[in-house]
Amino acid sequence: MNLHDASKLSHADWQAKAAELKKTAETRLFIGGEFVDAAEGGTFDNICPVDGSIINKCAAGTEADINKAVTIAKASFKSGEWSRLAPRDRMAIMYKWADLIAQNGAELALMDTIDMGKPITDMVEVDIPMCIDTIQYFAECIDKITGTVTATEYDVMSTVLREPIGVVGCISPWNYPLLMALWKIAPSLAAGNSTILKPAEQSPLSCNRVAELFVEAGGPSGALQVVNGMGEQAGQALARHMEVSKISFTGSTEVGKLIHVYSGESNMKKVSLECGGKGPQVFCEDLEGELLDRAVQTAIDGIFFNMGEVCSAGSRLIVHSKIHDEFVAKFIEMGKGAYICGDPLDPSVNLGPLVDHESQSRVLGLIETAKSEGGKVEFGGAAPAGELQKGAYIIPTMITAVNSNDTIAQLEAFGPVVAVIKVDSDDEAVEVANNSIYGLQGSVWTDNYRKAMRFAREIECGTFLVNSYEEGDMTQPFGGFKQSGNAKDMCFESLLSYTNSKAVWFRLN
Ligand code: NAP
Ligand code: MG
Repeated sequence: MNLHDASKLSHADWQAKAAELKKTAETRLFIGGEFVDAAEGGTFDNICPVDGSIINKCAAGTEADINKAVTIAKASFKSGEWSRLAPRDRMAIMYKWADLIAQNGAELALMDTIDMGKPITDMVEVDIPMCIDTIQYFAECIDKITGTVTATEYDVMSTVLREPIGVVGCISPWNYPLLMALWKIAPSLAAGNSTILKPAEQSPLSCNRVAELFVEAGGPSGALQVVNGMGEQAGQALARHMEVSKISFTGSTEVGKLIHVYSGESNMKKVSLECGGKGPQVFCEDLEGELLDRAVQTAIDGIFFNMGEVCSAGSRLIVHSKIHDEFVAKFIEMGKGAYICGDPLDPSVNLGPLVDHESQSRVLGLIETAKSEGGKVEFGGAAPAGELQKGAYIIPTMITAVNSNDTIAQLEAFGPVVAVIKVDSDDEAVEVANNSIYGLQGSVWTDNYRKAMRFAREIECGTFLVNSYEEGDMTQPFGGFKQSGNAKDMCFESLLSYTNSKAVWFRLN
């Protein structure tokens, strides 16, 4: 079912579809264009965070499956069936793939919702449209990749060619299961690479279906394969494989560091990392009226959307003392009831459970630590009581009186928890914003453009927004500084990162 029809479905419709999907979704590995059991026969439980029930059992790929997929990927790459396909033919297949995703939008949306608890309306209105955009954008870019002819002496022609890299491994997280995977596999495929994806164990279903649709669109079966399984097994085997030429990873900083180790201990494959964040938003003393209201509303959405399970979530609000009390009062008034926990299959619900109960305990623990370090819980701070108790829910939480070195200001919560830090000057705001191992996204709110430019220059992050947050389009490079990573997703630069440049020197005389 397409997204237009999906937008008309009721809670009961989605529940019926979910019950059906749990029986029919493909749980095996997608290797060489067909679904197969794991070589060693292992499976893992795919758990629904709404009630802790087992959705299905998924094949747990191991090194043996990765080896098989890499052998197929390499043969496919060498054959040229994808890597040497004329750019416009590759484009046509990718456009068709995007169309098939649109046609199957409801089913794909449902897979991510039941796997990781994201509200179905967000899947239908945000994630799936962005997935389609991603594929279309990189398809459009395929014949815009150019090499160069460099300045040389008269009897030489010196050129730089852009070539696909070979076999590319992608490892993705569960917070935007399909979208984060496509931010990697779409540019990798567009550049002509044979691509193998290891999705997060909490969200194994949608990527299987999307890979199947790629083959249905005419893509060669060796060009895109999906090996679900545990990170320490399938993920590690992919990142250590001697024939994999690049690993593109999105996930935690902790695992990102391991990927570097695996690369160094194997074949020095290229490593692209998109890791954690602790997004600072600075609110300056001049804020008032409509701009202040907009700043507060944006801050609320910037932390509570997607249950706060967003790498770039605005989790640290750095507020000038002159406006602090008014800001906090408005945030409580506008934010306390803005996101209400409920069944993510209900189209009116805007806050689902966290991805799993482990996450829920971790976030609740972090809230307790914040309190013990002097933080004041203004609202939330607990799991909901009553019928939602079985789920991994957390009520949206605001904590004030936080200091820049407090645990809640330093650790990525990856939940709907915001920390407010009061500062007395712009200098202090910059210092607090940069007091983090992360540097993914930041913002400033002010009517003073000279001040805005100063913050833009001085805050260490890959994406900076002035008087907005979580905005952007496919042209905008997305990626972090410091321990948030070393790569850019979306954007043309991302596509080029899936190519090698080769210097070719012609002696003509
Ligand atoms: P994670 O635990 O690091 O897992 C990410 C992926 O790595 C999963 O597929 C995981 O498999 C795999 N993995 C785990 N251990 C591995 C190992 N030893 N070797 C190879 N692969 C391994 O992260 P997550 O909890 O899924 O995602 C949340 C994190 O992602 C947050 O820190 C968030 O900030 C970050 N994130 C960053 C961006 C960005 O663009 N910067 C975007 C989204 C999310 P398993 O599932 O089996 O563990
Ligand atoms: Mg799950």
